Amino acid sequence: MDKKTKELIDEGKMLPLMEEFYTIQGEGSHTGTAAYFIRVGGCDVGCHWCDVKESWNAELHPPTLSDIIVENAKKYAETVVITGGEPLMWSMDYLTKQLQKNNIKTHIETSGAYSFSGVWDWFCLSPKKTKLPLNEVYKEADELKMIIHNKSDFDFAEEQAAKVGENCQLFLQPEWSKKEKMTAEIVDYVMKNPKWKISLQTHQYLNIP
Ligand code: SF4
Repeated sequence: MDKKTKELIDEGKMLPLMEEFYTIQGEGSHTGTAAYFIRVGGCDVGCHWCDVKESWNAELHPPTLSDIIVENAKKYAETVVITGGEPLMWSMDYLTKQLQKNNIKTHIETSGAYSFSGVWDWFCLSPKKTKLPLNEVYKEADELKMIIHNKSDFDFAEEQAAKVGENCQLFLQPEWSKKEKMTAEIVDYVMKNPKWKISLQTHQYLNIP
């Protein structure tokens, strides 16, 4: 990578863009609403069940000007969801400020394992056991989304819920490959612990991206 590109990436004016697409948010509090998804490459969190492993190596995804990403988003949507990979591996300040200047709402989905950057209208924190969120990130969460792959994940979900603010919405979401078994467990758990809500990957059921 040349020096200029590296500088622009460090400033958040370029990002390794894996894909961008207009679709329906399938998960969490904004389920069912239209949004433009920006998937940024790079992740070293290492979830064994990750369904976007092709995002992990940032070098496979072309450095793209953040201004171009904003221009693309403007054509489609009033809300952008920035996801990954792990988007907080990169500075989100420039991109999110530019999006908001264009009256686009900024949402993020992050493991929280990297330091906070960006200006966010909605911050979805989805902690992973393999690389925990930084302490500074918990207070930012509007929504805590815990992926349930096995029964021990309920204990982990409670540990993480104890760290977010009292207005943070709490979601349990079955990991897709275990959905038959774990959806039933989650339904039972939410009825016993109604501070939680269930989140389903509705885009998967709808067969949309
Ligand atoms: S944090 Fe997300 S992108 Fe990274 S390994 Fe886990 S599920 Fe995959």
